[in-house]
Amino acid sequence: MRVLSALVATCRDVGSDLTSLLLPLGCAGCGTWDVVVCRRCRGLWQQRPRRCESETVYLAAQDHPARPGLPVWALAPYRGGPRRMVLSWKGRSRTDLRPFFAAVGYGLGVAVGGELTRLLTGPAPPVLVLPAPSGWRRRLRRQLVVADLARAVGAGLGSTGHRVDVQDVLRTPDASLHRLGASARRTSRRVRLARRTDPRSLRTAVVLVDDVVTTGATLAACRTLLREHGANVAGAVVLAATPGPGSATWQ
Ligand SMILES: [Zn+2]
Repeated sequence: MRVLSALVATCRDVGSDLTSLLLPLGCAGCGTWDVVVCRRCRGLWQQRPRRCESETVYLAAQDHPARPGLPVWALAPYRGGPRRMVLSWKGRSRTDLRPFFAAVGYGLGVAVGGELTRLLTGPAPPVLVLPAPSGWRRRLRRQLVVADLARAVGAGLGSTGHRVDVQDVLRTPDASLHRLGASARRTSRRVRLARRTDPRSLRTAVVLVDDVVTTGATLAACRTLLREHGANVAGAVVLAATPGPGSATWQ
């Protein structure tokens, strides 16, 4: 079964590569002819990451009950060109964007490496980089773009002197749960650990990686689960953040 699904995924990859040879290719951000990402859209990702947790519902610091926020770094606002590029990268048709976002992820890891050193006081613990869970449909199709991004971020963090391990252990609930009614899904857990995860490996500093943060509900659920297993969730790294109304972070 696993061999079969790998074969199907490979055929799809080859198919989409052939498609990109046959169809005219445009910049994923603005459509400029005959280039994967144009110079201007490339520039949208070449800036220092910004802290954006204060614009989320679930990750901002809260007074009642007293709860510290989770540092979340993002490179771009999730709108316009960056939004179109992320959606194309996650879709099936633009596998040619993978090297671009791998490079963006590496740079993000490099930029966050120093910030992380300041956050982690005392002897530097190993840093465990965990991709946020992908839905089971995406996992079946083996379109694990967030896991690819996490590997790139981990490599960037590693280049700044951190000892880094990247593991893909966070899962959404089983496919069977999607046959339940909406209310049953709401009451079930949003995130679980993959079977055969060694919980002892989680007792260290953790950096979560996701493509986009909006309310922060998924990252908050990951933090809750990981803390129950003794993890110190130090922060999260995302490509883009949905700007809040009248956003001060993204003008
Ligand atoms: Zn462009």
